Amino acid sequence: MSARRLAVVGGVAAGMSAAARAKRRDPALDVVVFERSGYCSYTACGLPYHIAGVIPDHRALVMRTPEEFAREGVAVHVRHEVTGIDLDSRTLRVRDLERGRGRTEPWDALVLAAGARPAGAGLPGAATPGTFTLRTIEDAQAIRAWIDEHDARSAAVVGGGYIGLEVAEAFLARGLVTTVIEREDRLLTLVDADVAETIAGELRERGADVRCGAAVEAIEGGDRVRRVVAGGRAVDADVVVIGIGVRPDTELAAAAGLPLGPHGGVVVDAGMRTGTDGVWAAGDCCQTRHLLHDGPAYVPLGTTANKQGRVAGTTLTGGDAAFGGVLGTAVVKVCELQVGRTGLGEEEASAAGFDAVTASITHISRARYYPGHEPLQVKLVAERGSGRLLGGQLVGREGVAKRVDVVAAALHAGATADELAGYDLTYAPPFAPVWDPLLLAARAAAEAA
Ligand code: FAD
Repeated sequence: MSARRLAVVGGVAAGMSAAARAKRRDPALDVVVFERSGYCSYTACGLPYHIAGVIPDHRALVMRTPEEFAREGVAVHVRHEVTGIDLDSRTLRVRDLERGRGRTEPWDALVLAAGARPAGAGLPGAATPGTFTLRTIEDAQAIRAWIDEHDARSAAVVGGGYIGLEVAEAFLARGLVTTVIEREDRLLTLVDADVAETIAGELRERGADVRCGAAVEAIEGGDRVRRVVAGGRAVDADVVVIGIGVRPDTELAAAAGLPLGPHGGVVVDAGMRTGTDGVWAAGDCCQTRHLLHDGPAYVPLGTTANKQGRVAGTTLTGGDAAFGGVLGTAVVKVCELQVGRTGLGEEEASAAGFDAVTASITHISRARYYPGHEPLQVKLVAERGSGRLLGGQLVGREGVAKRVDVVAAALHAGATADELAGYDLTYAPPFAPVWDPLLLAARAAAEAA
């Protein structure tokens, strides 16, 4: 039996997927969404390209507006912040940020989809004007406006994770003298050191200064940012973006007494139920399960948030659906380079208790005689003895996403490296050599295992 009124906290990927799915399954359901920012149903994934100017109009990043949702019977209140949840009376405290007024809203079912918040507010000087994090359309607009209004010539990106790298690419595209500052000894710790070195090389080739092993000591400038001091050296910066990771936004959930997992996310079952009657959670505010080591995982990605929201919208309307877990499959473009990963790296595999071997090969992305082929590095991790695949990483200038997805599918199927080596993959000269790099890597991994 379905609830009569569904309230959703957070109106982006997970929240709007849950709301739309629930309404479609149960048209009689009264569905209301509260979203703190000024936009709903937008893609944060496109924000770096808005900063770069590749997507000049921010409206292109919005999938559906509140008006469009209203026509489907889903009421979306943007610029409305939920400030408290009362589980006993099944109500929310909601603040209308435009009018500065609070009110109480009832619910029979509640979906928490509050997402994640960027870390970094505690860095010394993080409040210096011209210093930003990137999460919302408003953030991207503020960065663009700052660059234009202050005639910014130089930029620093603090953090070499995938968001930091995408922002660095955006700054380079805008002609800014760009420095990437990373505390760890390499960029993108989601991938192995040799892959990370290829990424650093690409950024340097495009003109960026990459400083790894440099912790930020100060962001300086007074009324407008002028420099970042890191690892004992100062870097000029007319604009700074901090991209040192995100934390699940669980303030409301914690205050309501919902259990949080070891990574700080709301604990949910496969149906996205929190264990508290009538309350579901989905997206970046949740912890999830890793499909390989079966332990808790926190992998905040849009693809997961959309799926989880859909599952929540199904189960809260009495349907049967489950979100199985994640492999950490991801792909990122850094200038002309494509980097993909899925499953476990060798160190992660060992930490999870696997006896793992790694095979790494570099081959060409197209037939040798066909113009435009590029080197493609493929690394595969497999379990010693059984040969079961545990993970893969790819880096090159073309064909990365398609192949990392094949590895992800093989991981879902529990395939061995030997089985992957026999997969019937596509071949034609403009797309691959007759022995695809992935098949060669699988063969090498099968031999190593
Ligand atoms: P969010 O998108 O964080 O949305 C949660 C919303 O809840 C927020 O808008 C917030 O304002 C609102 N909210 C929070 N608390 C309250 C409250 N109390 N009251 C009202 N509203 C509230 N993922 C990929 O898979 N691929 C990519 O290429 C990719 N690129 C990215 C690039 C950037 C720059 C960023 C920032 C993220 C990227 N992601 C990517 C991650 C992806 O955007 C997120 O995983 C996804 O947006 C999570 O969706 P969500 O709905 O769980 O949370």
